[in-house]
Parts: sequence; C-alpha cells; structure tokens
Amino acid sequence: MAILVCGGAGYIGSHTVKELVSTYEVVVLDNLTTGFEHLIDERADFVKGDLGDRAILDEIFTTHSIDAVFHFAANSLVGESVENPLKYYRNNVSATLVLLEKMIEHGVKRFIFSSTAATYGIPDTDVITEETSTNPINPYGRSKLMIEQILADIACVHDFQYIVLRYFNAAGAHESGEIGESHDPESHLIPIVLQHLMGQRDKISVFGTDYNTSDGTCVRDYIHITDLARAHILSYEGMANGKIANKTYNLGNGAGYSVNEIIDTCQQVSGKQATVEYAPRRAGDPATLVASSNKITDALGWTPVYDLQAIIGSAWAWHSK
Ligand code: UDP
Repeated sequence: MAILVCGGAGYIGSHTVKELVSTYEVVVLDNLTTGFEHLIDERADFVKGDLGDRAILDEIFTTHSIDAVFHFAANSLVGESVENPLKYYRNNVSATLVLLEKMIEHGVKRFIFSSTAATYGIPDTDVITEETSTNPINPYGRSKLMIEQILADIACVHDFQYIVLRYFNAAGAHESGEIGESHDPESHLIPIVLQHLMGQRDKISVFGTDYNTSDGTCVRDYIHITDLARAHILSYEGMANGKIANKTYNLGNGAGYSVNEIIDTCQQVSGKQATVEYAPRRAGDPATLVASSNKITDALGWTPVYDLQAIIGSAWAWHSK
C-alpha cells in the first residue's frame, strides 16, 4: 500500500515525505510551481503534474495501490490571495475537487488535509481550540475552510474518511540538515530574520508595533516541521486503525512568541546582531494566534517535541549550511 503526497516538493510536504519513506511506499505529485524537486526524498516516486489533471490522477491511482492521500498542494500567501482570489479558488478549491472526485472514483478513501489557523480569522480568544468559531478574513483562509466543509459533506455519503490539520506557524528544518524552509519570494518571519543574520538581507522590517500584545508586535505559535510531519503520520495511522475519522485538529506548540521575541531568539542562536526597522502593520495580520492542541494530544498522544530554541536552532543549522 502506498501514500500519495500531493505537494510533496513543498516545505511541509517534503518534510513529511522524509518521515514517511522509512515506513511507507510514497508517491509525490507536484507541479513544482512553488516546490523544489531537490527537496523530494529520492526514495519516493515523483510525478510532475497538476492536481487537477484527471489523466495523471487516473494513471497514479491505477498503477499504484494508494491507501491514502496527504494533500499539501496549495497556494498559501494571504496577501496574494487578496489580490488574486481566482488563483486561490482555482488552485486550492477546484483542483482539490478533481482530486477528491478521482479518489472516490478509484475507491481511495483516506485523506489528510493541510488546513490553517487562517480559517479562524481574527479570533475572539487568545488560545484557539477547534471549537473557536471559523471566520476567515481572506480568500486563502476561505479556500481552506471551503474544502473542510466539502470533506464533511463527502464523508456523509461516500466510503471516505478525512482528517483536517489546522497548522499554526510551521518553522524549522529537518534534523538531517538536508532540507529546510525556503520560499521564493520569502515572506515568513524566521527565514527572513536568519537570511538577514547571514548577510543576505540589509535589515528586518517588523510589521506593526501597536498591537494589543505585551510588546506591541504580533504573537504567533511556532511549531517545528517534524512535529507537524509526525502529526500527519499519526493521523493516517489512527484512521487506518479505525481509531479516528472525520476530525479536525489544531497543530501548534501552545506558546505564543512576539515578533521581537523571535528576532531576539534568532540573535541568541546565531550569535549575531540584527538591524531592525519598525514598519507599518501588514494587512490581514491578527494580533495573536496561539493554538490549543489538546484535542489531538487526547486522541492520538501527539505532543510537540521541539521548543522555540530548538526550532530556530534547526533552521539556523540548515540556513548556515
Ligand atoms: N513579520 C514581520 N516581518 C517580516 C515577516 C513577518 O514583522 O518580514 C511578522 C508578520 O507580520 C506576522 C509574524 O511576523 O505578525 C509572522 O509572519 P509570517 O509571515 O511568518 O507567518 P503568518 O503568521 O503570517 O502565517
């Protein structure tokens, strides 16, 4: 039995593939628009193509005995989704519908879906549980919530099970040092700070210093990429063993760190001094996003292993390589 990883050349997908290949046969489908082929572990079979390509999906589902699909392939930039909503609804919603139709047609019945804290919008609580109301404030968050709702409808009428994983801020690099976080262009805080500390950027811009937080900068919950990857595998195995089905889980560390605290920790880990400029708020940023992940801990025993120092330490090790 094999696992199809859609988006396995991206940051979170490639780290999950690396964890999967020691136990499972893995097929990666990725069109390489935002992913990189060199991130895919060589033990996986790689198919270059689009998620919405029916012929490619037919080929994969007929030539491999696929037991589950892990679906990471998506566009994920909030600002871009506001400027180009059709791109987000086409790639994140329409293409996923083709994948789901093909799964149903070929009798593939297990699905792990990458979702996001952006489904919560601007929450009315500091610690977010899965019961916190969802009210996304941008097309990216809406595109993910739409698929969540579609999954629930499908599971009512088809022999089909799913787990939705709502990520908070994924960060860090694989302990092998072989793969890490790299986007082009890069918009995420930790890689931007580390690139600056390595001399690849002139300065860091802190977006907003007047938020209602301890130091005025935004607070986020950073979770190590390998902790995320492990949660996917546990979710799959929990479904395959009949323990869980059709659930939604938050994935975070349960601790919030401000932008200033992240910069401080990056300075400590690297031993280098940053040049910081204070800039206006970035559109669409909620002040605080911190997860409660108690639900997946109770269901599957998942707990994050990496704390902030270890997350940034692993990212620094990879960036300095
Ligand atoms: N941020 C920042 N400067 C940057 C990049 C990000 O101040 O160059 C802030 C951003 O406004 C947010 C936090 O860092 O409050 C985390 O941003 P990131 O893009 O890494 O993740 P997000 O929370 O948006 O998913």
